[in-house]
Amino acid sequence: MALKALDIYKLLPKKNCKECGDPTCLTFAMKLAGGKADVDLCPYLDENAKAVLGATTRPPIRLVKIGVGERTFAVGEEFVLYRHEKTFYHPPGIIFKVKDTQSPEEIAAATVRVRDELFTRVGTDLRFNGIAIENTSGSADIFSRAVAVVEDHADLPLVLMAQTPEAFATALVQVASYRPLLCTATRENYREMCALSKKHGCPMVIRANTLDDLAALAKDCVNEGALKLVMDLSPTTLEDFLVRSTAVRQLAITRKVPELGYPVFFDTTITGMQDAAIALGIVKYASVIITTPLSAESSKAALTLRQNIYTDPQKPIQMNPGLYRVGTPGKDAPVLMTVNFSLTFFTLQGYLESTRVPCFLLIVDTEGLSVLTAVAAGKLNEFLVRDALKKFGVELEVSHKKLIIPGYAAPLSGRIEDATGWKVLVGPRDAAEIGEYLNDEWKS
Ligand code: SF4
Repeated sequence: MALKALDIYKLLPKKNCKECGDPTCLTFAMKLAGGKADVDLCPYLDENAKAVLGATTRPPIRLVKIGVGERTFAVGEEFVLYRHEKTFYHPPGIIFKVKDTQSPEEIAAATVRVRDELFTRVGTDLRFNGIAIENTSGSADIFSRAVAVVEDHADLPLVLMAQTPEAFATALVQVASYRPLLCTATRENYREMCALSKKHGCPMVIRANTLDDLAALAKDCVNEGALKLVMDLSPTTLEDFLVRSTAVRQLAITRKVPELGYPVFFDTTITGMQDAAIALGIVKYASVIITTPLSAESSKAALTLRQNIYTDPQKPIQMNPGLYRVGTPGKDAPVLMTVNFSLTFFTLQGYLESTRVPCFLLIVDTEGLSVLTAVAAGKLNEFLVRDALKKFGVELEVSHKKLIIPGYAAPLSGRIEDATGWKVLVGPRDAAEIGEYLNDEWKS
């Protein structure tokens, strides 16, 4: 059962020393109660308090931040197994991998792509998240030079993939301030890796061949003071990844094995089926996805899928209501009304742009519902349209009083005319037909 802030406060040391980052123990207790802090941030908790608080207040999957600055991203802090139970909160970072054996030009090109590429879909800017540099050469110096090329071109979240603590140490001289994700700590090297992670404040990937070994390694890393962990499940096939990542999610969410409550790392370049692996990773619980630089088609597919999976299923994506312009409409331009469901807006806007008929688009607030649903639910009605016409000053923009409404809103046409005094024209049901409709029917 979740503890209240005062119950939590009773278990805290009450030193008010601020070492947890909060001004008082009570503030820290309130954050813990809201699942917004981690018990490990207080160094003075006794084992009993740690066990009680850790089991009840910590998000089942820890939040881990990758990188610093504008492009930093957070992963983890998920609460459900299935998206429809609530929502997924933190989309996986998709990271382009380069090898230190590649030419500086190739490394720079991949870096610049991640820095600059932007895909805008339903009003949201979608980007890749960072660059992973792999120490394929085995040489700390070559690795360090490749890292410097990336650093010269962008301030991006980084993943350093190397085999030896020496290679990490050399690279960290240049990029420690970016808090790169260090990849990978194993049973053999975890003490040195934990020391590096702690010294530089970097998150760290841990890897083991079985989930039992991974849980034990996570526990040992925490005991060494490395708290920002991401887990590599060592999959050898896609099926393997699916089985392990699902098991980890279940064991973490139910808190049966809290040591597995960390975000999951997935290097899709080892699978030989990269596009499928990326899709699987997005859908089935990967939080950091490593890929070679993707083609334009694969990029759009990955970013679109990620956006869809990490959109709250209970909240339709909405536009702000208002009067939008397509092209440079004049006083005699048509005025089209529709709802603020993003997909409706952007679909219609796309078709209108291709018709090259400048026009006004009046977006009314149906709480993100589509036209058909909004009419059926009574969310789209004559008063909403009347108020929107007034609020957004449509009469001041045009010299006529004609309003084109969507075909699915036809049953409201008479009532909208009575409420607004505007002549209502019923447009097509299918946005694809709007060009033909305007060309044939529109006269101001
Ligand atoms: S670190 Fe612990 S003792 Fe210090 S203020 Fe935070 S909760 Fe209180």
